[in-house]
Amino acid sequence: MKKNIYYDKNIINVTRTYLPSLSKYVKYVERIFSSRWVTNNGPLVSELESRLKEFLGVKYIVLVSNGTLALQIAYKILELQRKVFTTPFSFVATTSSLVFNNHIPVFIDIESDTFLMDLNILENQITKTKIRAVVAVHVFGNPLDVERVDHLTKTYNLKVVYDASHCFGVEYKGNSILNYGDISTLSFHATKLFHTVEGGAIVTNGEELYNKAKLMTNFGIKGPDQIETLGINAKMNEFEAAMGLAVLDDINLILERREEIFYRYKKELSGYVEFQKLNPNITRYNYSYFPILLKSEDEVLCVMENLKANNIIPRRYFYPSLDTLEYLQNKKICKVSRNISSRILCLPIFPDLDKEMQIKTIEIIKKSVKR
Ligand SMILES: *Cc1c(COP(=O)(O)O)cnc(C)c1O
Repeated sequence: MKKNIYYDKNIINVTRTYLPSLSKYVKYVERIFSSRWVTNNGPLVSELESRLKEFLGVKYIVLVSNGTLALQIAYKILELQRKVFTTPFSFVATTSSLVFNNHIPVFIDIESDTFLMDLNILENQITKTKIRAVVAVHVFGNPLDVERVDHLTKTYNLKVVYDASHCFGVEYKGNSILNYGDISTLSFHATKLFHTVEGGAIVTNGEELYNKAKLMTNFGIKGPDQIETLGINAKMNEFEAAMGLAVLDDINLILERREEIFYRYKKELSGYVEFQKLNPNITRYNYSYFPILLKSEDEVLCVMENLKANNIIPRRYFYPSLDTLEYLQNKKICKVSRNISSRILCLPIFPDLDKEMQIKTIEIIKKSVKR
């Protein structure tokens, strides 16, 4: 029989989609089969929305079909101007969604230790330009200094979207990080910590923004014969919500296991590689990624090769730096982002990562970097 690499249990990828027990998923799916309500804001989507509101501690949430559409709808309902500040160090969707909506991304370079947008550069650029919107990212679930961003917002009348795709369950000073800015977006893609196969969410504190998001997600259709505004189809369906409900049932276990794996890496690899600078005194993390920073790109390639030889497949998140994207015009070179991007590697982290495999991963890295 031909080996299918996607199902090879011996290959350890950077992430593995969490699947709840089949019987649990089927229990939710049975409800869809008995109601025949498969999409269009059905009962499972409503149930997932209210359970997520409670779990995350947020006021309004609109579930959508993916995290990229969540961003695009956020830009639309906030009526962002053409030019928008953003970060070059993120998944491509943060920038591509801007370009897709006809915005011009203006990159603000990052800090070399937190990997977050450098707010000193941002403030400087705000005072030098008329740009009054920013799409910032809490990279790997590490929150930006949201209080400083709030201050900038008040001082300069800035609109703020946080791409919080990595922030499921992250708290800042005891409050959900999703409660900051005008809108925060989440991704529930299968590779994420919490997922609905494909999916995402728009989170806001404002009732008006919530109503706009809700309307835009469903073609702008208000009632049976009433089209109120321009919209798009970004609805989550009932099967996706069923997956979300089943995964949410297991969320505390998922978070606990990730924390354990995270701290094992941290303890064992300290002194061998550099880590992202975190702020655990004021943050509750979700341990969704384990990035390591190596000395050089050559060292990254060497570590990757040695891991691959043992069927362990890390990923270069985030690489390349988005200021190198071919389809952008007038790119500003972001030196720090390019540098970090060339030296970063995300190690396998997922709830059922085998302890022995993790230790093997650690040993290979230690040998490869020869400190
Ligand atoms: C995953 C991700 C997205 C895109 O989400 P999708 O649900 O895959 O569309 C956007 N931004 C960041 C930072 C992400 O990690």
